[in-house]
Amino acid sequence: MTTPLICNNYINGQWKSAAATAAILESRNPANKHEVVATFVRSTTADVDAAVAAARQAYRSWRLVPAPARAEYIFKVGELLGQHKEELAHLISREMGKPLLEARGDVQEGIDCAFYSAGEGRRLFGQTVPSEMPNKFAMTVRMPIGVCALITPWNFPIAIPCWKIMPALVCGNTVILKPAEDSPACATKLVEIFAQAGLPPGVVNLVHGIGEEVGRALVEHPNVDLVSFTGSSETGAQVGAICGRTHKRVCLEMGGKNAQIVMEDADLQLAVDGAVWGAFGTAGQRCTATSRLLLHREIKEKFTAMLKERTSKLRLGAGTDPHTDVGPIVNEKQLQRVKRYVDIARQEGATVLIGGEIAAEEQLQNGYFFQPTILDNVEPKMRVAQEEIFGPVVALIEVNSFEEAIAVLNDTNYGLSSSIYTRDINRAFAAIRDIEAGITYINGPTIGAEVHLPFGGVKHTGNGHREAGTTALDIFTEWKTVYVDFSGSLQRAQIDNRG
Ligand code: ADP
Repeated sequence: MTTPLICNNYINGQWKSAAATAAILESRNPANKHEVVATFVRSTTADVDAAVAAARQAYRSWRLVPAPARAEYIFKVGELLGQHKEELAHLISREMGKPLLEARGDVQEGIDCAFYSAGEGRRLFGQTVPSEMPNKFAMTVRMPIGVCALITPWNFPIAIPCWKIMPALVCGNTVILKPAEDSPACATKLVEIFAQAGLPPGVVNLVHGIGEEVGRALVEHPNVDLVSFTGSSETGAQVGAICGRTHKRVCLEMGGKNAQIVMEDADLQLAVDGAVWGAFGTAGQRCTATSRLLLHREIKEKFTAMLKERTSKLRLGAGTDPHTDVGPIVNEKQLQRVKRYVDIARQEGATVLIGGEIAAEEQLQNGYFFQPTILDNVEPKMRVAQEEIFGPVVALIEVNSFEEAIAVLNDTNYGLSSSIYTRDINRAFAAIRDIEAGITYINGPTIGAEVHLPFGGVKHTGNGHREAGTTALDIFTEWKTVYVDFSGSLQRAQIDNRG
């Protein structure tokens, strides 16, 4: 067993050992709860104050560094991430459990994000616009916002912090990262890479600790200008409320209840491949995971048999084992929550077709493993069809028509990802038009976002922002409209040109 990594805070360019009086918390391997992956400090509001002060001070000069020069640091981070990809992937697997193949994808997403965001350093385009007055010039420029608090979950412990830190820095902001309690080691290794890239002190800061304590303190802090949060809808609502009261910019990325429609004309093999990957990839612990399969009655029986067969072959195990298809649930609390939802499904009248229990195998007893689960006979209004479970559980719902499929898909509070399998081009386009979601896949699973396209959802999933893509720039900048009057006289818009 490897020695636990000691995760310190990183404030103003320095790694701060925990004070003798500070409480120390542990991050454990969800595949083996006896293995402590890392220890981290339970930071206090004093640490938050120090990080915010450092970020505020650094902002004064960082915003004046030319954007292409700011981006050079991010290119460097991208290169370093590439060099450390394998080591980081193993750490991800050990710390939060996803299989190595997926963990490599997590790091790769960070690398892609680095090169994509850094490229923006030479764009950050504004507009030039004709003025309604003679001898007057009008344009728009993007301005940084200031100090950004970035609050992240554990399920993409490298990719999600990169999605936030990289565009924030290229746009001229300084940041404080508050990672999830379940992935402090990944966050620490990532920030080490930012430090190695030579960023000036205070531009990137890291504060470990408990969400309700340091997360909340950051959100409430008067010297924080922007909060970017990814996590549960419940916490997101609280974050949003505080930011509303304190007039902060806020970007919220929250839950999903994503559905895949399978029509009667679909390529069933392809649709099963998509469903297995969408529902059980990352053990269903993705905000884009497929948690409902809306199956046309003509193919339901056949599709269900094929899906059951495939699901029965999935191998549960530690993410670090190359033979593993489905890794553990992140912690005991989440494991019990998944179990509770399956019990609720049974009480509501759904049938467990396969799985439905905490894994019983001897070799899995040290971890938090839940069997990949298919729930049949689910009705659209049941709780398991409405609430986010965040585990390897998928609900089958029968539909009679395309119109019914769309209506059922839309009948939740969430709207992140969605998918339809059909060979009918007309239906595919009608689905693109009628599905209420931020992301729609045609003949692909609900998961698999690419960094250069907008990512986010409608309804209770988000608050109108889109991460990634050029839309990330709208989160981390504000527009300034600039008028330059070179007429030498007072020109009154709306008045002098209509004399
Ligand atoms: P999850 O179900 O993914 O753990 P949470 O919303 O609880 O979702 O956590 C996401 C992130 O938000 C974590 O970094 C967590 O520490 C942080 N967090 C939790 N509660 C709060 C809060 N009240 N204020 C700010 N951040 C919080």
